[in-house]
Amino acid sequence: MTVYLVGAGPGDPGLMTARSLELIAHADVIVYDRLIPETALAGARADAELVYVGKEGGGPSVGQDEIERVLVERGSRGLSVVRLKGGDPFVFGRGGEEAEALRAAGVAFEVVPGVTAGVAAPAYAGIPVTHREAASAVAFVTGHEDPAKPESALDWAALAVFPGTVVVYMGVRQLASITARLIDGGRAPEEPAALVQRGTLPGQRAVLGTLATIAQDAEREGVRAPAVAVFGPVAALRERLAWLEARPLHGLRVAVTRARAQASAIAARLRGLGAAVLETPAIRIEPLPGPAPELSRYDLVCLTSPNGVDALFDRLRAAGRDARAFAADARVAVIGPGTAHRLARFGVRADVVPERFVAEGLVEALGDAPVRHALVARAEEARDVLPDALRARGAEVDVLALYRTVVEPLSPEQLSGLADADYVTFTSSSTVRNLFAAAGEALLGAERRPRLASIGPVTSATLREHGLEPDVEAERHDIEGLLDALVADAGRRQER
Ligand code: SAH
Repeated sequence: MTVYLVGAGPGDPGLMTARSLELIAHADVIVYDRLIPETALAGARADAELVYVGKEGGGPSVGQDEIERVLVERGSRGLSVVRLKGGDPFVFGRGGEEAEALRAAGVAFEVVPGVTAGVAAPAYAGIPVTHREAASAVAFVTGHEDPAKPESALDWAALAVFPGTVVVYMGVRQLASITARLIDGGRAPEEPAALVQRGTLPGQRAVLGTLATIAQDAEREGVRAPAVAVFGPVAALRERLAWLEARPLHGLRVAVTRARAQASAIAARLRGLGAAVLETPAIRIEPLPGPAPELSRYDLVCLTSPNGVDALFDRLRAAGRDARAFAADARVAVIGPGTAHRLARFGVRADVVPERFVAEGLVEALGDAPVRHALVARAEEARDVLPDALRARGAEVDVLALYRTVVEPLSPEQLSGLADADYVTFTSSSTVRNLFAAAGEALLGAERRPRLASIGPVTSATLREHGLEPDVEAERHDIEGLLDALVADAGRRQER
């Protein structure tokens, strides 16, 4: 088998390559560093061996020899090994040394490039490292060593006259010394210079100055590693091209209260809009045990959530059955497009998707067609609007509770994050109830209460039952509608 030297990109999980995710999903062993995206290992196999070799809070890292020994040893055992590094493995990542060690030991390896911080962090700060008018070359330099030391491996005098952009990795500590050397060597003191800290990550910060001022600017602003420095006229383009800060939810902390399994889609959309996302899943979905329902008896099957769809098909699968268990002429009704989408994954197209994504909307959307025998498959704690309305139309209705949502305690960090959030999003009544059970005090007790965003009237009513008035209510009662409402609210507040 093979050892893969894989770049995980600069920190934004969205900048991981498709190849890296594929290899992580299959790896027997993953040997990883500190500077990899927080969620990088989320797709690893549950039984994969995870070996951390990074620095712990400035403490000593695992020695390079030891890392190479682990790679060679696991690789020789025929395991599929992913060596996961921040950025690109061959750019200041010691990937070359590891490849040599593997080669010497006769262990097959492959290299999977990653998005390197020296390009990505400037890009997220609105700085193109080359530009037809401003820079036709770029040099990537390590600022690890003090240039004042005689044994410095870098020719700073040559870099001073280098005709292009100079990007310095690992240079925060030596910044004053580096800029002094470049100016001594003849680079213009007034040349634009920028420092980008935590590029592509939530909390990215950029400082813009000149070669002469940037070290002081950085100190004043308290810039810390990881950061890259960019020297050259391109740095000034940030004034016009800064796009990150222009995103509608930039700088806002938004808490997502959905169960972890469902939070990822909304979290990703929120991050895309610029928000820092805090996942506070006060609920966990717990499937209820039970046999597969005899679906062929129903001419109408109603599913009220994606979880319900999963749980139903889990039961069918356990009984050795699949989508063919539905009666051939049955209608399948769902409460909204998310549920329809999940259903489609199992090869079933929903016949009825209401325009209003609440139980009442589903009843309306059924139209006048008669219903004889209906199954409502849903959460244990759901409202009875749908079964009652179907019965009122003369249908015989069976209600099947497929799962329940259980309160999950939040960590102290999640609780304090919640109190500090700008927005807390609620996507169902159960998210309200469960968050209050888990963190009512953090929400009610805070001096500056976060703004509460509700997906629709039912969820808003549940908030009011708990004594809180929602600040934002979506007009369209789905995730996109909720995001639209958040963006509109944030925009209005910014104008003020
Ligand atoms: N192989 C990595 C670099 C490792 S050296 C790559 O290709 O990106 C570590 C240095 O990379 C840090 O000191 C910092 O200068 C830079 N770096 C890594 N992640 C960064 C980030 N998110 N923002 C800014 N600089 C980063």
